[in-house]
Amino acid sequence: MKYLTSTILKFTGVLIAMSSRYDVVVVGAGIAGSYLAYLLSRLGIDVLLVDMKPFERVGDKPCGDAIGKHHFDELGVEYPKGNELEGIVRGIDVYSPYEDVKYRVLGDGFEVNRIAFTQRFVRKAVDNGVTYLEKTHALRPIISRGKVVGVTLWRRGQGSWNVNSSLLVDATGLSRAIIRHLPSEWPVSEKLDAKDINIAYREVRVLRKPIEEPEILRIYINKNVAPGGYWWLFPYSLSDNVVNVGLGVQGGMGYPNPKDLLYEHVLKREVFEGSKVVEAGGAPLPTRRALASLVWHGIAAVGDAAFTANPIHGGGKGSAMISSYCLAKAIERALKTGELTLENLWWANICYNERYGVKQAVLDLFRRFLQRLSNEDLEYGMKRRLIREEDLNVLSLKGDLELSVVEKAMRLLAGLGRPSLLLRLRSVAKFMDRIKSYYRSYPEKPEMIYEWIRGLNRIYEEFEEKALK
Ligand SMILES: Cc1cc2nc3c(=O)[nH]c(=O)nc-3n(C[C@H](O)[C@H](O)[C@H](O)COP(=O)(O)OP(=O)(O)OC[C@H]3O[C@@H](n4cnc5c(N)ncnc54)[C@H](O)[C@@H]3O)c2cc1C
Repeated sequence: MKYLTSTILKFTGVLIAMSSRYDVVVVGAGIAGSYLAYLLSRLGIDVLLVDMKPFERVGDKPCGDAIGKHHFDELGVEYPKGNELEGIVRGIDVYSPYEDVKYRVLGDGFEVNRIAFTQRFVRKAVDNGVTYLEKTHALRPIISRGKVVGVTLWRRGQGSWNVNSSLLVDATGLSRAIIRHLPSEWPVSEKLDAKDINIAYREVRVLRKPIEEPEILRIYINKNVAPGGYWWLFPYSLSDNVVNVGLGVQGGMGYPNPKDLLYEHVLKREVFEGSKVVEAGGAPLPTRRALASLVWHGIAAVGDAAFTANPIHGGGKGSAMISSYCLAKAIERALKTGELTLENLWWANICYNERYGVKQAVLDLFRRFLQRLSNEDLEYGMKRRLIREEDLNVLSLKGDLELSVVEKAMRLLAGLGRPSLLLRLRSVAKFMDRIKSYYRSYPEKPEMIYEWIRGLNRIYEEFEEKALK
């Protein structure tokens, strides 16, 4: 690591020399930023990681704490263990609005201690030579000649100062503290529609009695209780009687506050009687397709800042890590052939789309469809097994809803009511297929991205017109 010392700062007892220039500056040490910094630390380049929180609170964002095991396997990340692990997951039960029907979707995963898990990567990054600054705010990007060239940082007692970078990464979650200052025509600064947000609130509670099957997570879909979202009960199977219970509602619709809904409809259930609150808090999360490009001139975005969460269930940690993985790989490739230019980093988009982005775009359509269904439609659909457990599994893992599955259901259910629901589902499945094909034409070079985005937006508009009305 090279040091062009301008400042001396203290982190966990170690004196850190601060340079005024880094190859990559990562703003935000949530799971996306920490994992990225760790991956970059293995490349032997100068990396600065900053977060406004103190180190002890890094990773401390309200969460359901569930992560699928497949994410760890795909990325080659060591499973959580010891103090990083709160529970083992074997599957999810999804309940219909009137709780008459339950789908059990089997799949392994973990309930993580999100703070210990995130800190794993910060520690490893620092061990490998990354400069880490806690309690440091990024104020704004520095732009020169159509390119981001650095960032202005601020620290209490120290004031503000500038740091130059070849690449600045916004990993600040939904605050999007960097990219929201960029010119609106840059694809990375695309605005987030309030309806594409889910506002979620959760509590960690100790129950009086053990819960049955603590390795099964529970999701309840009910429009009256959680409009445009769902409520959940995720047991921490390794801690006595501890559960994570929360509720999310769609934003921009004027729905009631999720905390009020949780108290009014969920926490009055017998299972929560006499339970004690250990932690409480809420936050918004994105539920749409990812940014059309994770990179632009001198800038990149990962994690929630790039809208990488799953549009249906809102899980965002695994996919945030995928975006960081793709960006780190793109940086590695770029440095082999030259510099961190937009053209050289474009591969991050190809990688992310292949691993998660296409599925997200497909699920974005399905989410819009689901959010418009009534409780009766949902109850009917689940009771008649319009989409079965195994289809749900494929849908959630791959983003595939085979038209043949829907057409088979239509044949089986002909004459059994709700023809308009069946027709709408067929139309949705067709659009899901279409969006998937459209992503195959994702540009190999940045120049064509504006035209591609126009085409994508046209499909979404047509979908709203034809499939949802
Ligand atoms: C209630 C709830 C439940 C959820 N449940 C799950 C779940 O069960 N499983 C799952 O996988 N996902 C879940 N998610 C989503 C998941 O929490 C997010 O997708 C994930 O944490 C995003 O990580 P991130 O690193 O992109 O952003 P964040 O975790 O938001 O991290 C951003 C970091 O940037 C820092 N920062 C912000 N602004 C600045 C600035 N100006 N200067 C310096 N630092 C800054 C913040 O301090 C923070 O540390 C849930 C979300 C919510 C709200």
